[in-house]
Amino acid sequence: MKEITRNLKDQYQTIRANTIHQVFILAIIIITLTFFPAILLSIYPLSYKLLLLGVNVGTALISTLGLVIIKKKISDQSLRLRIYLIISLIYIIMLTILPTEKYLTTNGLAVYTMTVVIFLSLNKRYLYIAGFLTLGFITYYGILGVGQFVALGLGYLFSNFGMYLLMLITLVKGIDMYAQFEELYQLQLLKMNDLHLSLRHLNEEIISTDQELKHSLIHDSLTGALNWRGFADALEQRIAVDKNTDFYVVLFDLDNFMYINNSFGYNTGDQIIIKLVNQLMSKHDLFEYVSRSDGDTLMFIVNHSIAKKVVLCQLEQIFKSIKIGEMEFRIKASIGISEAYENARTIDLIRNAEMAMHKVKDEGKGNYADHDDAYIQMIDRQYKISSIMSEAIEKGEFYNLYQPKVGLNNNSVDGFEALVRWNSQELGTIYPDEFIRVAEQSGQIIELGQVIMKNAMIFAKNASQIDASIVVSINISARQLLEESFLVRTQKTIKDTDVAVNNIAFEITETAYIENLDNAKRVMERIKGLGIPIYLDDFGTGYSSLSYLHKLPIDVLKIDKSFVDTIGNSEQSRELLVSVIMLAKSLKLSSCAEGVETFEQLKILKGYGCEYVQGYYFDKPLAEDEAIKRLGFKY
Ligand code: C2E
Ligand code: CA
Ligand code: CA
Repeated sequence: MKEITRNLKDQYQTIRANTIHQVFILAIIIITLTFFPAILLSIYPLSYKLLLLGVNVGTALISTLGLVIIKKKISDQSLRLRIYLIISLIYIIMLTILPTEKYLTTNGLAVYTMTVVIFLSLNKRYLYIAGFLTLGFITYYGILGVGQFVALGLGYLFSNFGMYLLMLITLVKGIDMYAQFEELYQLQLLKMNDLHLSLRHLNEEIISTDQELKHSLIHDSLTGALNWRGFADALEQRIAVDKNTDFYVVLFDLDNFMYINNSFGYNTGDQIIIKLVNQLMSKHDLFEYVSRSDGDTLMFIVNHSIAKKVVLCQLEQIFKSIKIGEMEFRIKASIGISEAYENARTIDLIRNAEMAMHKVKDEGKGNYADHDDAYIQMIDRQYKISSIMSEAIEKGEFYNLYQPKVGLNNNSVDGFEALVRWNSQELGTIYPDEFIRVAEQSGQIIELGQVIMKNAMIFAKNASQIDASIVVSINISARQLLEESFLVRTQKTIKDTDVAVNNIAFEITETAYIENLDNAKRVMERIKGLGIPIYLDDFGTGYSSLSYLHKLPIDVLKIDKSFVDTIGNSEQSRELLVSVIMLAKSLKLSSCAEGVETFEQLKILKGYGCEYVQGYYFDKPLAEDEAIKRLGFKY
């Protein structure tokens, strides 16, 4: 803005200088030229005429030269004054050497006077004074001239008088115009200043809102810490610009924070988060770029020189000392750590830390884990599995195998357990240990379980035509069991496949009723009501509280393979096994041991009174036609 004003001022001064300059050069030329005929027509001898001409041309040249210099150095006042002094001196000398020809030198004097006035002041009043003095001179000498030589005198009088009058009028007009211009210019200047000021204000406002906006874009509104984006930006800068990778990312998510929110209110929850962030931020030599995502997940980085032990210890301190009002909270969190590495992408580092944190959550919370690639690959694979599963169900890629269940009283096949298999076109053979969990998490187990159940019932129907007492047990996931339409679907499938309810059984794991005992119990009772037996699967692996075993409508206890595995070499497991079998007996339940692989295991189990066994010792899970062949078979 200032620049523009300055430019305008410069331009204005140049125009002014140019105009004045041109007017005066023109004036000098005209005056000198009009002077010529006057000199030539005079009665002086030739030598004198030439002298006069020479003096006039010289004067004109000097004036022009002066003007040229003035134009160049228009701003230099003292130089301008010096030039005027020189010109004045020349005129004075002229007047002195030509004392009798005053009227001839008047022209030069007139030009000179006006020049001085214009250049020094540009003042109308001075111009009038100088102008009228000049006109006075001309009149006076013109009259004198008429007295000497009428024609010459009159010629001089009219031409010069007229010309100077014209020049005076023009100059006065010029000054008026200049004054107007100046006024306008000042006005514009003021306006421009105003504009400049308001623009500056606007600019300042824009800058401050811009800063606010930028701040809110990369900061969390609750705690004022960075948000994920701010964190990513800062980290990006550090890695890409400073080439600095000597740090690790620490991310933690509070465990069961939902309970705090639910029991103490969201306000308390927020207070806790704020306190946490403040505590972290106060240790800025330890935790850098403290940031928070929307929920209860916080993240920061730590320089490599600081050991993880120190960080975990500090966090522990912070977690157990959160005080809100009178209340003290002991917080637990799942912590994930990921190391920075060369050319790492920020998003990968955050993801790695997140994965590590999820791993901790998966494994029971309240701990910390370093990111490891295997876990990430597993998550990726789970994602893949889930994304292709529904289509695979439609394409019929899932089928059941059937593992014989052997009755130890007569060593013959008493039933089968249906075990699902997936022969994926895309991923090859996938085992249920892997995809059942994924299906349970994604909810696809409902769909899949339906297919398994239907196939198992068709098989049971076929098998029952050979052995009417055969029982095919079907594994039912907790999620499947607790799904609203489970019973209705089951009944429909029984009807569709025309299977007898005494030819099927459901295997249910403890997890089904641990989380939702009342609900699970209700559904299990309805299942029993339909006439379907229930096997309690994987007994002994979970949290098994014996206290409610008798409350549930269970027919068979399936003793988990992990018990069976160790009975050959540990007295303790044998004792445990005995007590489980005794427990089953006391509750009037049958017991079925899984994963029997050796004769020794079989002998022990038989000795303790276990009624049924399953395992590779007898058979692996078999394809339908193989399984059918086992009916009536004695091992
Ligand atoms: P589970 O219900 O405990 O099934 C027994 C598992 O042990 C089966 O593995 C079976 O093949 C295996 N097994 C049987 N005898 C032996 C043995 O002597 N030695 C060894 N090493 N293993 C033996 P599978 O078929 O891979 O199934 C694993 C788990 O996947 C099952 O454990 C069950 O929890 C789940 N699952 C399998 N099929 C289904 C299904 O149709 N529906 C549901 N919801 N879950 C299923
Ligand atoms: Ca089972
Ligand atoms: Ca089992």
